Amino acid sequence: RWAYVDGVFVPFASAAVPLEDRGLEFSESLYEVVAVINGKPFRLADHVERMLQGARELGLQEGVPPLARWQHVVADLWARERFDSAILYAQLTGGTAAREHLPGQRKKPLFFAYLRPFTFPAPSLIAQGIAAVTVPEMRWQRRDIKTTMLLPAVLAKQQARQKGAQEAIFVGQDGYVNEGASSNVCVVRSGVVASPPPGERLLEGVTLKAVSELCAELGLPFHRRWVSLSDLKGADEVFIASTTTLIMPVVRLDGQLVGGGKPGPITLRLAYHFQKLFTGEQTA
Ligand code: PLP
Repeated sequence: RWAYVDGVFVPFASAAVPLEDRGLEFSESLYEVVAVINGKPFRLADHVERMLQGARELGLQEGVPPLARWQHVVADLWARERFDSAILYAQLTGGTAAREHLPGQRKKPLFFAYLRPFTFPAPSLIAQGIAAVTVPEMRWQRRDIKTTMLLPAVLAKQQARQKGAQEAIFVGQDGYVNEGASSNVCVVRSGVVASPPPGERLLEGVTLKAVSELCAELGLPFHRRWVSLSDLKGADEVFIASTTTLIMPVVRLDGQLVGGGKPGPITLRLAYHFQKLFTGEQTA
């Protein structure tokens, strides 16, 4: 296995980050997970743009490689490993400095990336759907930035697992749905697909963007609007969307069946077309 660290390719086992890396000590750090099918990254440009936006917020924009470099890194890693199906994990950190909240010297960001073999959900799994639970929002206020401060997401996923579910859906104190612990949430009501509005409350998913484009192509109305907890629970269909789950129907929510306990027709239609895009389009 190989990794790309600070501009060079190194064996995965000997790749390392210094103890005083600011990503490690302060979570001053952003990440991306990109699907790579037969060596082709899915919507790489969207991922790079999202990291760049986050990096501007953190003052780390100089550390984000340009798109062409990402393409080169994926191609080079893939040439070494040739996984049929993998994720590219990429992380940008504040780099190394003597441990202080505000470091004295100017720091140089650290960028690293590697491929990890990954099996995306097969159509047969998507046809079954998953269970989800709702949990109170417990993350910080800037969820539009894809930082590695993932402890609340890890704890929420543990809660989900304890209840026999695969995803946890964060609901704000105001009773409105934000997103899944590692996915965006969509509801379908009377043939209209809806997802909570973009903003600081949630991460704008690359997959969600593809969902909105697919809806436009298929003539399905797609709205960004507030979704209350009761709205979620009473929806005809619910699905989550993310790089690793693709479009995945939610058929059980807090122990209650959604839409009779089977994936709904609109979700399955979107999942089918997404699968085609995912396995066929594969360009940045
Ligand atoms: N929201 C959160 C909190 C996530 O962690 C993720 C992805 O892991 C998403 C949404 C979906 O984003 P994407 O479709 O770009 O994978």
